[in-house]
Amino acid sequence: MTIGILGGGIAGLSLAYFLKHKSIILEREAHLGGLGRSFSLNGIDYDIGPHIIFSKNKEILDLHTSLLETNKIRRSNKILHKGKLIKYPFENDLASLDKEERDYCLHGFLNNPYDGYEPSTMLQFFLKTFGEGITKLYLEPYNEKIWKFDPSFLDTQMVERIPKPPKEDVIKSAQGIPTEGYTHQLYFHYPREGGFQALVNAYAKAIEGKSEIINPVAINKIIRKGKQWLVKTDKGDQLFDKLVNCMPLHELFRYLEAPDDVRQTLDRLKFNSIYTVVVQCAKDGMGDNFTFTIADKDVIFHRLSKLNFLGDRYCLKDGGSTLLIEITFRPDSQLAIMPEEDLKAQVVRDLEKLSLVSGKDILAVEARRFKYAYVIYDLHHKQNSAKVLGYLEGIGISCCGRFAEFKYMNSDHVAESAQRLAGRLNGGLEDST
Ligand SMILES: Cc1cc2nc3c(=O)[nH]c(=O)nc-3n(C[C@H](O)[C@H](O)[C@H](O)COP(=O)(O)OP(=O)(O)OC[C@H]3O[C@@H](n4cnc5c(N)ncnc54)[C@H](O)[C@@H]3O)c2cc1C
Repeated sequence: MTIGILGGGIAGLSLAYFLKHKSIILEREAHLGGLGRSFSLNGIDYDIGPHIIFSKNKEILDLHTSLLETNKIRRSNKILHKGKLIKYPFENDLASLDKEERDYCLHGFLNNPYDGYEPSTMLQFFLKTFGEGITKLYLEPYNEKIWKFDPSFLDTQMVERIPKPPKEDVIKSAQGIPTEGYTHQLYFHYPREGGFQALVNAYAKAIEGKSEIINPVAINKIIRKGKQWLVKTDKGDQLFDKLVNCMPLHELFRYLEAPDDVRQTLDRLKFNSIYTVVVQCAKDGMGDNFTFTIADKDVIFHRLSKLNFLGDRYCLKDGGSTLLIEITFRPDSQLAIMPEEDLKAQVVRDLEKLSLVSGKDILAVEARRFKYAYVIYDLHHKQNSAKVLGYLEGIGISCCGRFAEFKYMNSDHVAESAQRLAGRLNGGLEDST
């Protein structure tokens, strides 16, 4: 039995790792890793937005930290709000706001008129869980900025597992007594060298001999042949007993026959793209912090990260800093057609406006764009994705991965899903022997 795996990102590679069967991975790019890839500028490796290794799933976390050497790092993330640095998460550091805003947040949390309602949108969830002040000052503008979508048109899938902060913690936070939120992300791991790509490479090494990788390859057509799948490519035809899609759904359907209603539903599945801009400076304006998130609409990026924080291998030899900046955009928006030079110039202007860099200290600026970055949980996402995935399941194609399952999944969730799917496929193998 040979399993065909379409896409050589973390999903495809981890699936091959967990499978007992022989598998063949077909990857379009010359490099493996998809969103988990890293690039290099003046010897500093950087990811598509820093990709930290963390997980609530101990087995997956242990696997990822055993596959390669990592640095274990304590989080130091801040929110840059009207010139002030607020510790992440926002609700845990209300004392750093000015008095009027602090009182607005505390009062809105303690006297919350939205308390008794069942939220059906992200915005309603925020208002109910955090109150008006925290929502209006930070959560609503930040989410609107990253999703490029009004949170009143997003459903609650992204946020429903966020616990309501205990009343005592929010009171302490307003009084300036330190507390920590989201403690499962307090410490994280990062590859000692090579960026997140090191995890991709470690998976690729671990499956050597067991799985074949064909890349770069152009798939031309995917056709059902009796009980098997024929995948026609520019490197010849491949016949598989089982086919698993690990690439974005929108890519898969370019090669498949499908009914019109399924295609129309696919077209309604929304996603965001992302620009990453790397700025290397002779000086450091971020201090001992890893990331700043910024909800302010007048700043083009929603997050910037200082890569020096990740370890010695991510520091420029002559000092200074490497900043990684993230800007999401809808594929059909004005931002999508912004010329690269204008984008870079805007990023530098905004960094200067925030007093984080001075133009004369800039050593290098590099921009890259990536089509599939974030799944958008609009109000129809659940039913639309269920229809498309149900169709694929019906014709015998399994899906595994962030844009293959069309879910907000980090690499640990992707590996977890691959492990589950491999368990089912391995079970099938045992049944048939
Ligand atoms: C900005 C950002 C920050 C993130 N931060 C983190 C983080 O800190 N920690 C974390 O764990 N996760 C993070 N993630 C999520 C993580 O990147 C994904 O969960 C993971 O990389 C998804 O892997 P995948 O294999 O499902 O998909 P992808 O990485 O998208 O892989 C799909 C693969 O399919 C290939 N492909 C596409 N089209 C074709 C085709 N036509 N033919 C053949 N192959 C094709 C692609 O080239 C790619 O290799 C982040 C994501 C983003 C966007």
